[in-house]
Amino acid sequence: MPSQYHVKIVIIGAGIIGTSIAWHLSRAMEENILLLDRSEPGGLATNAAAGILGPLNETDHEGPFLDLLRASLALYPDFVEALMEETGLSPDFVRSGILSVASSDEEEVLLKKRWQWQKPLDNSIEWLSGKEARAMEPHLGEDVQAAIRYPNESHVYAPRLLRALQGSISQKKIDWRRGEPVVAVRENGSEGVVITTSRGERIFAEKAILTPGAFMGGISLPPPIMPVTPVNGQILAVRSTQRPYRHIVFYPPKGYFVPKLDGTVVIGASEDDYGHETKVTPKGMIDFLSPLKKVSPHLLEQPFHHAWSGLRPKTPDGLPIIGAHPSNPNIIIAAGHYRNGILLSPVTGAIIANLLTGKNSPVPIEAFSPGRFKSAT
Ligand SMILES: Cc1cc2nc3c(=O)[nH]c(=O)nc-3n(C[C@H](O)[C@H](O)[C@H](O)COP(=O)(O)OP(=O)(O)OC[C@H]3O[C@@H](n4cnc5c(N)ncnc54)[C@H](O)[C@@H]3O)c2cc1C
Repeated sequence: MPSQYHVKIVIIGAGIIGTSIAWHLSRAMEENILLLDRSEPGGLATNAAAGILGPLNETDHEGPFLDLLRASLALYPDFVEALMEETGLSPDFVRSGILSVASSDEEEVLLKKRWQWQKPLDNSIEWLSGKEARAMEPHLGEDVQAAIRYPNESHVYAPRLLRALQGSISQKKIDWRRGEPVVAVRENGSEGVVITTSRGERIFAEKAILTPGAFMGGISLPPPIMPVTPVNGQILAVRSTQRPYRHIVFYPPKGYFVPKLDGTVVIGASEDDYGHETKVTPKGMIDFLSPLKKVSPHLLEQPFHHAWSGLRPKTPDGLPIIGAHPSNPNIIIAAGHYRNGILLSPVTGAIIANLLTGKNSPVPIEAFSPGRFKSAT
């Protein structure tokens, strides 16, 4: 790359969020786009994700966040179909449904509360006794005494979704480079922004879109700071000779397992603070493996496949940051998607593409405004 470079739009970070934005922009405008990544695209979080698309399991109340999650799930079938048409690659999107189970009276009370506020929102969800849940999923343990079934919740194979997006954008007007860490984004008078890489190269652009996941703090920006911190997530997969489950199963406090089309069952996930280090530790696994003795003892007997970890990008209020930076409208932020970046990738791409082409957002985004951190220094 020359030491000075001019382009219309630069996207910084080629995880699922940056790549989905590049894909949506390439469909909405003709201009040249540059997509930069410091290392392996999606290597921090996207490639580690379980790929669950489950809005109703991700919040305890109604509001703009639930609306955003549900709007994104609704976009998934068309998103995946368009990618498959363009690339021939399948991201293994499956409308499996979710069973959220209770294995004690206390857990059942909490599940019932959730049922009471969610049922009026979605008439398709069902309350099941333990016996009814086992009739659907015979390998559920005898201790499972109640469940909510969410028939529309789905899952996808996140690394394959990222590969399909990469395959599609590589056919378009997108210049895509890796091994290029960005260290700063600054105002360039009325002309837009100037982006500096670790090699000292300066890239002049009308807009910079920041999608660096948990490494937001590694890029110097005008104040206020966009507070995104890493939350280590450990996760593992077992092999299953036959597919014993159809549904994703969620169990308290934060465990889940996902039967994948390739015959593995992904079981997750911890939430640990190891800074920017990704670690797999026996301690991290205990919290989500121990409850399986009651929920599905069968799974604990399956052959171990592999274990891995990644860094979820989290904000102080747990909500994503989507929109223009308060000190400069040419710096756009799309980060902090925490536990739901795979689910939120199509709606985030659509929101940013609409923002840059002067169209209305498909959903209200005030609650996710970067301006809410105005006082952060
Ligand atoms: C164990 C685990 C399970 C998960 N399960 C789910 C799930 O089931 N469903 C779901 O929806 N979500 C899930 N998530 C969350 C999801 O993975 C994240 O929210 C999502 O991947 C974030 O995407 P991103 O593009 O913002 O970040 P990333 O995937 O981290 O991508 C950011 C990219 O930016 C690059 N970058 C960083 N700094 C710079 C820089 N200075 N210059 C250039 N490039 C830079 C990085 O190299 C990286 O490629 C899970 C996460 C984990 C860890």
